[in-house]
Amino acid sequence: MEDPPYTDSVDLDRMQRRLDEIMSIGKTEEGGVTRLAYSEEESEAFEYVRSELDDSLEIRTDSLGNLYASPDLDSAETTLVGSHLDSVYNGGRLDGALGVVVAMEAMDVVETAETSSAVPPTLVVFRGEESARFGSHTIGSRGALGMLTVEDFSRADQNDVPLWLAMQRDGHQPSDLSEPMLDLSRVRRFYETHIEQGRVLDESDNDLGIVTSIRAPVRYNVTVEGAYDHSGATPMDLREDALAAAGEMITAVEQVASDTGAVVATVGDITARDGAINKVCGEVAFPLDIRSDEVPSRDEVERGILNEFSRITDRRDVTVSKEEIDRSDPVSLSKNAIDELTDAVSATGAEYLQLPSGGGHDAMNFQQAGIPTGMLFVPSVRGISHSPEEETYPESIRSAAIATAHVLANPDA
Ligand SMILES: [Zn+2]
Repeated sequence: MEDPPYTDSVDLDRMQRRLDEIMSIGKTEEGGVTRLAYSEEESEAFEYVRSELDDSLEIRTDSLGNLYASPDLDSAETTLVGSHLDSVYNGGRLDGALGVVVAMEAMDVVETAETSSAVPPTLVVFRGEESARFGSHTIGSRGALGMLTVEDFSRADQNDVPLWLAMQRDGHQPSDLSEPMLDLSRVRRFYETHIEQGRVLDESDNDLGIVTSIRAPVRYNVTVEGAYDHSGATPMDLREDALAAAGEMITAVEQVASDTGAVVATVGDITARDGAINKVCGEVAFPLDIRSDEVPSRDEVERGILNEFSRITDRRDVTVSKEEIDRSDPVSLSKNAIDELTDAVSATGAEYLQLPSGGGHDAMNFQQAGIPTGMLFVPSVRGISHSPEEETYPESIRSAAIATAHVLANPDA
């Protein structure tokens, strides 16, 4: 079989070098990276990317610090390609950075090819995708699309520095937030490559994933109230044990979601308030996160879980209260973009799988804004993500760059 176009021009060593150099910015003692949203380290990584760009590209930064680079920033039409450079605390080297490096490589390959595309691509690098610092996610891409709110700007980090002040200190002056900073009428597609952050691709031995949809959560803070009692003096049948009730509720969360298959539900934390070894616990709090790529099945699991909660609390004579903290809609990515990526990936000979994304990404905002959006996943080795041990396979990086170059060069395929 003939190699697909760009196979020889994609330079894996150059991509690995760039990943290593970005990794060195904000590197932690544990071997991970901490490059938080609007930190000095994030800015330094943006400077690095800028320094690696070809002289022929026009470069622009918007008022939130997002970077755009293209052979023609004012062309009638463009294809956006990119990702983010910030990380969680002690995160891995690939989350975000990989998508930027793959986009840079694909742009370079297409630009140096003899038949350059009729639609000039634009590299886009977003600020602040991770919610680790401010509790707000995808700050840069939502800002570029006019989706940021006043609440986002007033959210503060651990040191009580609000987002607006962190932006100002970094030299940005966001103006009218409700207006997109991008001329969306010019944008025909957005493509992003990202690490999967789950174990589906690695366990199924696939080289690449093509994302079909992005799961979105319903989230609650749940509080169970019973009664504090002496652990020695209170007979079992007289207890109103909030912690034992919570234990049963957490098991019910797992059971209800497992019964449906297409929905994931998680209790990732628990607080026994004023708990002690010699007390029956009277108050427990835990978060609940329910996600699916379809609203109806997510609603069904949510109802099932809440029914189980009432059944358990009635029987145990404790009470439950819940505060809804998030209800976002899942996003189905563009059928056209999925088809284009599928053709491009097939041509590379890579084994691939179409799958939903469990985590949120800058890509979902573009699809929500009406831009047909496509996403490629590289496998997370052993499913590890947001960790210094985050890794993928070199051949997957190479195939992602070849496939991305292909979709950039064939805008009417
Ligand atoms: Zn990411």
